Amino acid sequence: MASAYKIIDHAYDVVVVGAGGAGLRATLGMGMAGLKTACVTKVFPTRSHTVAAQGGIGAALGNMGPDDWRWHMFDTVKGSDWLGDQDAIEYMCRSAIPAVVELEHFGVPFSRTEEGKIYQRPFGGHTTEYGDGPMAKRACAAADRTGHAILHTLYQQCLKHKAEFFVEYFALDLIMDEDGVCRGIMAWNLDDGTIHRFRAHMVVLATGGYGRAYFSCTSAHTCTGDGNAMVLRAGLPLQDMEFVQFHPTGIYSAGCLITEGARGEGGYLTNSAGERFMERYAPHAKDLASRDVVSRAMTIEVREGRGVGKENDHIMLHLEHLDPAVLHERLPGISETAKVFAGVEVTKEPIPVLPTVHYNMGGVPTNYHGEVLRPTKANPDGICPGLMAIGEAACVSVHGANRLGTNSLIDLVVFGRAAAHRAAELVRPGMPHKPLAANAGEGALDRLDRIRNAAGGSPTSRIRLKMQRTMQNNCAVFRSGDVLQEGCRLIDEVNSQLGDLSVSDRTMIWNSDLVEALELDNLVSQSLATLYSGAARTESRGAHAREDFPDRDDANWMKHTLAWVDGKGGVSLDYRDVHMYTLSNEVSVFPPKKRVY
Ligand SMILES: Cc1cc2nc3c(=O)[nH]c(=O)nc-3n(C[C@H](O)[C@H](O)[C@H](O)COP(=O)(O)OP(=O)(O)OC[C@H]3O[C@@H](n4cnc5c(N)ncnc54)[C@H](O)[C@@H]3O)c2cc1C
Repeated sequence: MASAYKIIDHAYDVVVVGAGGAGLRATLGMGMAGLKTACVTKVFPTRSHTVAAQGGIGAALGNMGPDDWRWHMFDTVKGSDWLGDQDAIEYMCRSAIPAVVELEHFGVPFSRTEEGKIYQRPFGGHTTEYGDGPMAKRACAAADRTGHAILHTLYQQCLKHKAEFFVEYFALDLIMDEDGVCRGIMAWNLDDGTIHRFRAHMVVLATGGYGRAYFSCTSAHTCTGDGNAMVLRAGLPLQDMEFVQFHPTGIYSAGCLITEGARGEGGYLTNSAGERFMERYAPHAKDLASRDVVSRAMTIEVREGRGVGKENDHIMLHLEHLDPAVLHERLPGISETAKVFAGVEVTKEPIPVLPTVHYNMGGVPTNYHGEVLRPTKANPDGICPGLMAIGEAACVSVHGANRLGTNSLIDLVVFGRAAAHRAAELVRPGMPHKPLAANAGEGALDRLDRIRNAAGGSPTSRIRLKMQRTMQNNCAVFRSGDVLQEGCRLIDEVNSQLGDLSVSDRTMIWNSDLVEALELDNLVSQSLATLYSGAARTESRGAHAREDFPDRDDANWMKHTLAWVDGKGGVSLDYRDVHMYTLSNEVSVFPPKKRVY
């Protein structure tokens, strides 16, 4: 029963949920604007998944060759397969340049060129001259530990600006009032078992992606999309959930990532005949075509019997031809990862790799200020007051149907900063709070209590495995109507099985059994949204490759999917238009064309 829990109350101007790159950049900006800000995070800030980002952060600095933010914008629109909103993409690519310079000034230890400028490497899908010129050098890198460098620097800056952290607090749910305004969050302190109610004029969700819905993914075990699920429970939709990115080079079987920066530095892929097959699929960009294209090519090679290894089921990534000094200086982290997880010495032999789930293009729909949308027929761009979302949790949408490498790290800092600017316009420091309803937050505690006392016959691990296998088998690199329909049926079964959940530990202090059960519940609602959205979209676009509908269908499908999931697991879908306009007249809209690399 909810009333059995004692609640500790807090009041802040702003509460940020999540301390990855997005959450920390927003927290820092809020603090700089004089807003009293709490950052609530289930893991220690520098353990957020952003710490694992390797290859780089995209910005057209032009340090190592000609570049222009408009070229970056074109590449991003094309990479998105024309599902990205062009106003937001313009905003991101233009703001990327000052955002990276700002990171440099905050103290990020970027790798350097001979002249002392930030080092930049080529990355998939990033070109010059609107795709007509050579590959761009646009990925600003700190060796292959870029996320690590950025996250630690942002955390230090937050400490300098006296941000308040609530570390190892698990956010349970949003507090929504009768007018549909977000008024705060409920959270559980994992360390001492207490329950906390945070009220705020603005809640910023920066809770990251939900890669863990899949069996094999590159993201951390904590990437369970908790914020996305809170949004669904608040009766708001998620957008474009069918678009799940597979990274071409996860280590075979272990799933750990080998950055695309490895191909940026000159690495290449081969099949069982030793052939550099990417030349057939993408004659211009070859191994640096965008991720969906490379992942599909690898899958086709394996399917047609040209995979390597005993089971002919994977592909080789070669770095052994590169200068060992370059590997040591630019790719030290992945050299170590390959050794530990594949037993491979990269200076001598190739790395066995396979496409692995890596990123969620879909998430909470927002505008380019970070404000969460509550789309209606009358106003498809209407907002939900009091609520923002940023980072991988959000769908702005700058990545559309497929994200380019390096465009997530830049999305985190650009929109983390934008959210802080917007909040500073909307919230006055110390502004009084309206009283909360006496029962505010009760729903969150009822759910906690129900799951904590779940006494069925199915442990979390069993239900989770069935969900992960379903997503892996039925929502993969290639999809078809039959397979997706079967996936919908299987995920409905998983959802029903949640009614038979068993949680064996009923304590409140460091109860990882309960944490995992709450995370599973969150993952299932997102899996439902993903599969149903995918089954409905009868075209191929970006990461959504339908074998039964191999072509992009702009006449019928150049639109964002919106998916609502009700309390019983019922999914309803609707659509909203892609923004085909820019913010300024310094660039014009890029009209759809065939996407070849
Ligand atoms: C291995 C790897 C390498 C990558 N390399 C690159 C790269 O080189 N370039 C690039 O652009 N992108 C890269 N990406 C993608 C990019 O790193 C991620 O998309 C990005 O870091 C996500 O950042 P975020 O701030 O949105 O969330 P995260 O960094 O995932 O942080 C989520 C935060 O939310 C908190 N949280 C979640 N749920 C709760 C809850 N219930 N209660 C309280 N707190 C909660 C967590 O504690 C955490 O602090 C990579 C991704 C991976 C997995």
